[in-house]
Amino acid sequence: MIIDARSIDSSSIIESDLCIVGAGAAGIAIALEFMKKSDVSVVLLESGGEKLDPATQSLNGGHQLGVAYDDLEASRSRFLGGATNCWGGWCRPLDELDFQVRDWIPNSGWPFGKAELLPYYERSHAVLQLKPFAYDVSAHADLLKERGLAPLPLGSKRLDNMLVHLSGPARFGKAYRDQLRRASNVKLLLMANATEICTDHAGTNVTGVRVATLSGKKFSVMAKIVVLAAGGIENPRLLLLSNQVQTKGLGNGADLVGRYFMDHPRIRSSRVRLEDLRRFRRLYDNQVALQRGDKQDTRLTMHLAPTAETQRALRIPNSRTYIAQRYAQDASKGFQAARRFTLAVRACVRFGRPLGACAKEAARTIPTLIANAPAAAIGSVAVRHKPSLLREDFSFESVLEPIPNYDSRVTLAPTRDRLGLNQVNVDWRLTDADRRHFDILCELLNKDALTRDGLHLVGDPVSTDTVWPSKLGGCWHHMGTTRMDANPAKGVVGPDGRVHGISNLFIAGSSVFPTSGSDMPTITIVALALRLCDRLNAMLRSESPRRTQLDLQPSAPMG
Ligand SMILES: Cc1cc2nc3c(=O)[nH]c(=O)nc-3n(C[C@H](O)[C@H](O)[C@H](O)COP(=O)(O)OP(=O)(O)OC[C@H]3O[C@@H](n4cnc5c(N)ncnc54)[C@H](O)[C@@H]3O)c2cc1C
Repeated sequence: MIIDARSIDSSSIIESDLCIVGAGAAGIAIALEFMKKSDVSVVLLESGGEKLDPATQSLNGGHQLGVAYDDLEASRSRFLGGATNCWGGWCRPLDELDFQVRDWIPNSGWPFGKAELLPYYERSHAVLQLKPFAYDVSAHADLLKERGLAPLPLGSKRLDNMLVHLSGPARFGKAYRDQLRRASNVKLLLMANATEICTDHAGTNVTGVRVATLSGKKFSVMAKIVVLAAGGIENPRLLLLSNQVQTKGLGNGADLVGRYFMDHPRIRSSRVRLEDLRRFRRLYDNQVALQRGDKQDTRLTMHLAPTAETQRALRIPNSRTYIAQRYAQDASKGFQAARRFTLAVRACVRFGRPLGACAKEAARTIPTLIANAPAAAIGSVAVRHKPSLLREDFSFESVLEPIPNYDSRVTLAPTRDRLGLNQVNVDWRLTDADRRHFDILCELLNKDALTRDGLHLVGDPVSTDTVWPSKLGGCWHHMGTTRMDANPAKGVVGPDGRVHGISNLFIAGSSVFPTSGSDMPTITIVALALRLCDRLNAMLRSESPRRTQLDLQPSAPMG
């Protein structure tokens, strides 16, 4: 059932077996699994409502200290469905090598291999509304043949063609709202912000979750097990905010909560031209997808990646490269201004960013827009409608696996949000090694991705000096901040997702990724969430965790 938390009396205590914080991809995937187990009661807390509202969205606000990065408010969605409200739907499981210890990548190695996750990856396809679990290019040979398409011929075996599935994209809020409403054992509380995770005096057992609404209500959920599924920035924030007993924050004994923050650096490099647009473009252009049948059916795209052998030989991490359309106006001042203007308006309309901030940003661009009106207009049409007439050619665009970096981190800022909670500082840092890896990748692409009948270089290969770091962006994938490691000195959670030293607190989402690979994270988030459900189910049935009395600290009385 769905309940508006603003209708709940202050000081109430709601009891459940399982409390999940956050109804995004991870939280909803877990709730869906437990809907099948009607004897387990679940409370799913979601900060937002069914639609975006600016006041709730503002709770995502924070500060950027490191690599220039997307606005924290505008690049996440704080309402039912979480970031699936704005995601692109690209899905591919991590590669086998991504899970392994790689001696050329410090802090690499998951506590388990891909085989452990494979059955859950397969099941995640249904949750993500993807069609058959088939990532071999050969499995789709009939479709490629029927459409006259082919994988790019490559200059050597050092690169490979990797298949990526595209989800609808499934918007989890819309897709699963009715099931959540009908579920008798799941209470989805909307407009319910978890503000603190409470523990017993020893700090080893979670007793419940404090909840506040923006309308001023404060109540608690008491649960046998609590799962944080609030996203890669909010998971560490909640742990750090929960500092009544463990004063450095829950699970932060080793000072790792919030550290190793990663996103996938995304960057364009050399200009390229396709020998045969018809044969290759639909597979490699990030703006179009190959579709089998109607809209509900398989949608595919293709990336180039260094093989496992190449990564070992060149001592580089993983990466994915596709081609992105380029327009003559891309570099013009007018077009850049039009782009900033559009982003400011979009941040306001789509992500509920305060009007004042958007208007200020939009206003700054107006003089440049007026002075460069023709280029701005043509550029905007090009971006909106992608007409081939205006397209010059393509660029390589690569998504890189970053090196886990201890100094790249999310911390609490002194500034406060509307609930009075500390906002975050996000200090995303890349290292010289990341740049060196990009150099090596560019060399590899410029040699091995180019063939007479496939991709051609246009002009000179791009020197990394001209693009790194000024043209560097992220992918809105927030990872690593509660990393997984069997050793409590090296990780916040163990291999099963449980916070070290706390018997009944688990974390779901990409914050647990120790390394990120270069694939988009959501399919791995969902697979890990489904795996976690098996663990939680077993724990609820056999280990029968106690639901202890909410242990309210005198210094933090309930309102
Ligand atoms: C523009 C964009 C494009 C993307 N494209 C892709 C893509 O193509 N492929 C891919 O794999 N990934 C993509 N992603 C990333 C993907 O959306 C995320 O990896 C995924 O949604 C994360 O799932 P999650 O459940 O961990 O977190 P989220 O989806 O962020 O969900 C967290 C939920 O927790 C709620 N919450 C937060 N704090 C609290 C609190 N204190 N109390 C209660 N609730 C709280 C939030 O409101 C939210 O609903 C994209 C992201 C963006 C922004």
